[in-house]
Amino acid sequence: MGFKNIYAYNLAMLAKQGWRIVTNPNSLIAKLYKARYFPYGTFWNAELGDSPSFSWRSILNGRPILKAGVQWKIGDGILVNIWDDRWIPTAQQYRISRPPQAHCAKLIGLHGTKCALQQALTSTSNGNPYKELWNKIWKAQVPGKVQICVWRACNNLLATRERLLTKGYNGETRCLLCIHPIEDNSHLFCKCPIAKQLLIAPPFNLQDSLLPNINFKEWMLERAMSLQPQIFAKLLMIIWAIWKNRNNMLWSGTQQTAQDLMLSCVTWLEDFQKARPGSLKPVKHTRQKWVPATNGCYKLNVDAAFMHNQNNGGIGGVIRDATGQFVAAFARPVPCTASPKQCELLAIREGIDLLYSLQLNEVTIESDCMEAIQEIHCPDYELLANGSIVDDIHRTWGKLKGVHFDYTPRSCNRVAHRLAAIGFEATQDVVWTSQAPESIFDVLDKDCNQLT
Ligand SMILES: [Zn+2]
Repeated sequence: MGFKNIYAYNLAMLAKQGWRIVTNPNSLIAKLYKARYFPYGTFWNAELGDSPSFSWRSILNGRPILKAGVQWKIGDGILVNIWDDRWIPTAQQYRISRPPQAHCAKLIGLHGTKCALQQALTSTSNGNPYKELWNKIWKAQVPGKVQICVWRACNNLLATRERLLTKGYNGETRCLLCIHPIEDNSHLFCKCPIAKQLLIAPPFNLQDSLLPNINFKEWMLERAMSLQPQIFAKLLMIIWAIWKNRNNMLWSGTQQTAQDLMLSCVTWLEDFQKARPGSLKPVKHTRQKWVPATNGCYKLNVDAAFMHNQNNGGIGGVIRDATGQFVAAFARPVPCTASPKQCELLAIREGIDLLYSLQLNEVTIESDCMEAIQEIHCPDYELLANGSIVDDIHRTWGKLKGVHFDYTPRSCNRVAHRLAAIGFEATQDVVWTSQAPESIFDVLDKDCNQLT
């Protein structure tokens, strides 16, 4: 290799360093250079500055090579300055010649519209390692605004303070919710205490060491590949809720607890998915069946039926012993309830009251409403909308021994489901203690036949 070649090789290496800064703005090295040499601008217009380091000087030497080889790939266009950046492969100078400042996003009107974003995505996602992530985001059963928010978060397009720095902002960089010195997307969505609380809890159960320090997008790709669709949808909701929560802090100085965020996310998600049941893909799980309690214990299954437009509902429940034998059941109408969840909590309260009146201990109470179960275990349940119902449940719970609550899928809750429907139609409360009503014979039988 001759001297000239070594020189060219060197320049190429330097250009590569510059390339790293441009393409990994979240890397430590890029942040360091940025903070020191171009805090308010971009790498492309950065200057040598006072007493530059040897390596910065070298990187700038490589910049012309890089500029010659680089042209923008239009994503959502927010970062592309149409007059100064090189973005049209076919035009001379790779750009159009000018009147004043304008940004590509304004020009093509992409900003915030899902369909256009998706177009932008498909056009850039061929051979894109993140394709899987984008697919999972757009296919997720969550509201469109949530998909857009998460897509923007992954591409570092949300106006976090770290990102504003690249747009000339020179204000506070600290996290709005804690004392972390830089608010970037990895911190905000994963490392900030409130985010961490949400991610280490069910259904995510992520250990601290699995949360990203820098590359949020890559982390999201991993999540998209490993999480089941329903849980991934919850993650999307949570990212959106964290962003909303952060904005509430910014604009009105208010914020929610992790517990509240989780609860509202699960509620929104359930409401959204209930509102469009046709779009819900069948959840893939091996067919599950009802299982009786272990020896000497009982199982109480409860359920609720709720009519949205009438605001009334019905509740029902069934108690069986460890052999699957019928012990007792109830069904009753509940006029004037506010929500399906409230109705589910009323079913649980009615069920636990029945346990108490029959003096039954060692019971597993099963509901197919995850949020109701979560509310019962919420440390600040008094503050919830249904706090007084949960409080009643806790009072009776305290008088019984060995009672605990569990979530069960609907396919394992058929008898209670039938009883709730009976309650919905009923004009008065009914309790059966010696013999099961004929109207549930078939479903009781089904559960028992599956026991073999
Ligand atoms: Zn924070």
